[in-house]
Amino acid sequence: MLPTSGTLLFAGALNVDFSIRVPHLPEPGETVLGPNYQVMPGGKAANQAVACARAGGQAALVGAVGTDPFAEVALCCLRASGVNLSGVRTLQGSSGAAFIGISDTGENTILVAAGTNAALRPEDLPDLTAVDMLVLPLETPLPTIQAFAEAAWQRGVQVVLNAAPAQTLPPLLLQYVSLLIVNEGELRALMPPVPTEDLWQQLRAVQQQGPKAIVVTLGERGCAALLADGTQLRIPAPVVTAVDTTGAGDTFTGTLVAALSRGLHFADALIWASAAAALACTRPGAQPSIPSADEVEAFLS
Ligand code: ATP
Repeated sequence: MLPTSGTLLFAGALNVDFSIRVPHLPEPGETVLGPNYQVMPGGKAANQAVACARAGGQAALVGAVGTDPFAEVALCCLRASGVNLSGVRTLQGSSGAAFIGISDTGENTILVAAGTNAALRPEDLPDLTAVDMLVLPLETPLPTIQAFAEAAWQRGVQVVLNAAPAQTLPPLLLQYVSLLIVNEGELRALMPPVPTEDLWQQLRAVQQQGPKAIVVTLGERGCAALLADGTQLRIPAPVVTAVDTTGAGDTFTGTLVAALSRGLHFADALIWASAAAALACTRPGAQPSIPSADEVEAFLS
């Protein structure tokens, strides 16, 4: 199935998440016992595509799964949510996997095995004719991400970079970016070596490296955005009882781009994304916790 007009194309990782709830997260060298574990679909690009589709966006995914039995787990929620999977290849080897520890306070620690996510190549980028936005998290090889971003930018497709997990970026990548989405740690990793405690100064310093607009998520403190014209937005997070924040950032990103593509004003799109992410924190898992548009609407009314 070819992507239809107005498509939001997510490129990156599909994972299988193995999660275990523990009384506290382990220090290096420590073993912590938990009662049992769960196996659920995850991976940043996959989570974001599911969030986008559930928010009413036209989502498509580019990536790869392995020939192992867990591949079906990685794909099930995407299929059920109506994400276009024509760009997902099956390759010899293991699907990507994440091993997640969740503490009783809802904090998490995550170890990731790239598996077939490491095989995403520049030539895997599909035709972008029907694509409005290309959304790129960073769990696949950086040269591929750089090539995808440059190709999209050259064709006038908006590039949304979710610079997660934090890492050093290729020098030109940020110049192709229309919207950069980061959490606080990822923002620090992109900061030039002039430390400042002021959030807006930090965002302006990163904006000078290329991205037109930047959103920084601040966990239970909400989010802030610096737009291309210098407008500053600060949106508080709804107060919820968090049981598992896994996938909160991905829910936020997928919902935000869906809302923007539906023509919402930036501030309203941030409110939608914050509500969806807060709801996701009240339920276990990454993809299974992502709310539908109806649930977000009910939560906000
Ligand atoms: P994760 O890696 O856990 O998916 P993240 O580190 O990428 O998340 P955060 O800044 O922790 O991103 O969270 C993303 C968004 O999720 C926040 O901007 C906020 O809207 C929402 N959120 C996160 N934690 C909470 C919380 N405890 N209560 C309400 N909303 C939350």
